[in-house]
Amino acid sequence: MDSNVRLVVLGSRGSIPVSGADFVVYGGGTTSFALVVDGRVVGFIDAGTGVVPWRDFGLAVGPSIDVFLTHYHWDHIQGLTMLDLVWSDDHQITIHGPNDPRAALTSVIAPPWFPVSLVDAPSIRFEPIVGPVELEGLMITPFGVEHPQGAVGYRIDGPSSSVAIVTDHEAGSDLDGSIVDSIRGVEVLIHDGQYQPDEAETHRGWGHSTWEDAVAAALLSGANRLILTSLDPRRTDEGVDVLVHTARRDFHSTEAAYPGLSVSL
Ligand SMILES: [Zn+2]
Repeated sequence: MDSNVRLVVLGSRGSIPVSGADFVVYGGGTTSFALVVDGRVVGFIDAGTGVVPWRDFGLAVGPSIDVFLTHYHWDHIQGLTMLDLVWSDDHQITIHGPNDPRAALTSVIAPPWFPVSLVDAPSIRFEPIVGPVELEGLMITPFGVEHPQGAVGYRIDGPSSSVAIVTDHEAGSDLDGSIVDSIRGVEVLIHDGQYQPDEAETHRGWGHSTWEDAVAAALLSGANRLILTSLDPRRTDEGVDVLVHTARRDFHSTEAAYPGLSVSL
């Protein structure tokens, strides 16, 4: 196992950031993951508020950083507003995302919603993601998921292992099968586990999964480890522990994502 290449969780909360004594273990920052090679961040998957304190994890960056967005809901992009790297001309930032990332991001990271405009960031460019991207020995492959306004997940194949990230997906559509095909054989599955089954009943169309849906995807794909993410903003640390322990009855190697959790690639 080559621990020089890894994915680090920066934010695991879905929908909106939270804070307080009930959210210490699993954190309050929204979705973001760092791709790290030899201690240096080469990319991020999503840029929710969790991305902002990336330096707290002992990481450095090189001159070029690629950001792969799953979609453009606030909890996946809001960290771009306060990410120091975006506003520095020391780094070339390339933002990959479905459809038209330039239009989606520059229309909302701008006045009157934010005091400065993303189009004025000194070294940023946008690339629609249409297929696999090779990055520093990692192969990053998008696939479609079921989510309002559309979204993608990412499979990341590294030199020693592989991880799939499905942050936002509502199970129960024809896409369930194609997702399993896309992630088959990964070592680690990081999957939306926002709801308990009874909560999903009142949130049809919100675009999220239950822990049961995540377990089903792990079993069908052959993953050896399941990490639940997009945690409900109302779910306290204690509530997340309950959810994880329930899921472990059906899939023993289940845990929940928390800032600093590191997965070898
Ligand atoms: Zn979303």
